Amino acid sequence: MISYVCRRCNDLECETSVCPNCGERTELAGSKVFWCEHCNAPSFDEVCNQCGSLCAYIGTDLRPVFPEERLLLEVLLGQPFCFAESSVWNVGSNNYIVDGKKKAVSFKSLRERNDIDKVIEKLNEYHNKNIKYVQEFESSKTIVNFIKINKNRLNAITYEALNYIKSLAGDKNESEMFVSFSGGKDSTVVSHLVRSALPDKNVIHIYGDTTLEYPTSEDYIKRFRKEYPQTPLLTAKNKDQDFNNLCEVIGPPARMMRWCCTVFKTGAITKKIDSTFKNAKQIIAFQGIRRNESVSRSKYEKESDDSKIKKQLAVNPIIDWLDFDVWLYILSNRIDFNYAYRQGFTRVGCWCCPNNSAWSEFLAGIYMNSKYNEFRDILYKFAQKIGKPDWKVYIDDGEWKKRQGGNGVEYSQKSIVSFKPCALEENTYNFELTKPITTDIYKFFKPFGILNYEMGRKSLNEVYVLDRKSNMPVLRISGRLGSSLIKITVFDNSPVFRIKRIAEMYLKNQINKYQTCIGCTYCEAVCKFGALKVFNTKKGDVSNDSISYSIDENKCVGCLECVKHFENGCYISKVLKVKKQG
Ligand code: SF4
Ligand code: SF4
Ligand code: SF4
Ligand SMILES: [Zn+2]
Ligand SMILES: [Zn+2]
Repeated sequence: MISYVCRRCNDLECETSVCPNCGERTELAGSKVFWCEHCNAPSFDEVCNQCGSLCAYIGTDLRPVFPEERLLLEVLLGQPFCFAESSVWNVGSNNYIVDGKKKAVSFKSLRERNDIDKVIEKLNEYHNKNIKYVQEFESSKTIVNFIKINKNRLNAITYEALNYIKSLAGDKNESEMFVSFSGGKDSTVVSHLVRSALPDKNVIHIYGDTTLEYPTSEDYIKRFRKEYPQTPLLTAKNKDQDFNNLCEVIGPPARMMRWCCTVFKTGAITKKIDSTFKNAKQIIAFQGIRRNESVSRSKYEKESDDSKIKKQLAVNPIIDWLDFDVWLYILSNRIDFNYAYRQGFTRVGCWCCPNNSAWSEFLAGIYMNSKYNEFRDILYKFAQKIGKPDWKVYIDDGEWKKRQGGNGVEYSQKSIVSFKPCALEENTYNFELTKPITTDIYKFFKPFGILNYEMGRKSLNEVYVLDRKSNMPVLRISGRLGSSLIKITVFDNSPVFRIKRIAEMYLKNQINKYQTCIGCTYCEAVCKFGALKVFNTKKGDVSNDSISYSIDENKCVGCLECVKHFENGCYISKVLKVKKQG
């Protein structure tokens, strides 16, 4: 049962996600799921549709516990196979339901009581005995009853979702839409719905591979490709960068500085979408976002124009579904899914994300032990490098996830740009760089105008930047190659530089890029005119020297977005900004 409330109609309670009174989207007020004692399975309705019994309330939402997770739980509790013949579910974090009875476990104490290596050993020992339960699970009484009892619910949500997809996309060209595919259960359902609703079944799927995906996701993607060969599944991946190397140079990501999302996710996906749908006027992106996932998502609209990505309509067909519904759909339709859910993970994504719970970290230690240990080592080394005296505790207790800014990170020193106004010439600045001058520096001034190498005095290495329209000088740059002093004169031919403070900031930002760019590619995404290209000439290398940063003068319109988009001109510098002490 799900209840909604319409804020517009004075908190009117509604049964549907659209207010029957005013037609607005309602807010999710709450949900209830029940247990039928007679059928020994969960029910969406309070009265069991199969046997007519009155069911008992068991929680707000629920997911099945697969035999793999069940065995893990039993091993952790020291009682292998004690629940093997039971109907086992989970109603949120550490609250399990066994044959309708609540069984709360303490994840914290289970973690503390159990050594990861011993757990792995035990799981291996019992693996063969568990196979029978794994193979029979989908046709077990538990699941068969779950499907039977909730048939009405399944029909209702399926009917609604299919109609919704058809009404939005039914008459559109399938080459102007795609499914945003993460390999998680929600996008699995959306993919299945979209392919069922639309005739050609060849809607493009775009899978964002952050390079930090669970091994089970990689396996699932392979199986998906095999099972649905007519569905094009494209991968968006940043192959230029290496996560571990980046962690060593700029430090691991933290909750407040999730730079890897920018480097490995957003940039790669935006590029893939742009190149795939070059000529499309508007594209539809089907997503698996659901609003019961978090408070911040509880107000998500069913469809929205994505302001970050031009011309994209984001459509969320299962926005109002519960976990209960997602599993009901997957199990009823016998759809293949990511095995991470069998192991007990509740979400998939990056296995080393600072946003993951301590419990999924523990699971990662069990199921992807060698990767996990490798990452731990990187974390330990990092903590030592930034001078944490209690470095092991700092990592083990998860303090690293709360890190903000680049304190102690050597690389953050590179972004310091200092300058002095010239004592002799008006409107002239002397910048002191942390990286010697090469011819590479000039291109960072292209957003301000056209570079001219002819006008200046050769002996002083002068390069002019001319205004795009008037051809009048805007900047004069001079500096000896190899030295670290650069002199820039600002002419008042350009309105851009009329305010001194802004002129200083713009110049500083561009010099900072020259010094620090490690090719995160965010600048590329910022330029709406396709003029900017950033790539790494040596794959996986995290040094500023191997980065090619180019601006196509024929495409650049001088909008300056790339100059002013980030504080200090660079996303990575912003991440590594050092907080002033005291
Ligand atoms: S680890 Fe977390 S922050 Fe990093 S890319 Fe993955 S989801 Fe984003
Ligand atoms: S300048 Fe900074 S934000 Fe731009 S691509 Fe380079 S590292 Fe990324
Ligand atoms: S964002 Fe693109 S078009 Fe605008 S100034 Fe930068 S490179 Fe030029
Ligand atoms: Zn209303
Ligand atoms: Zn029943």
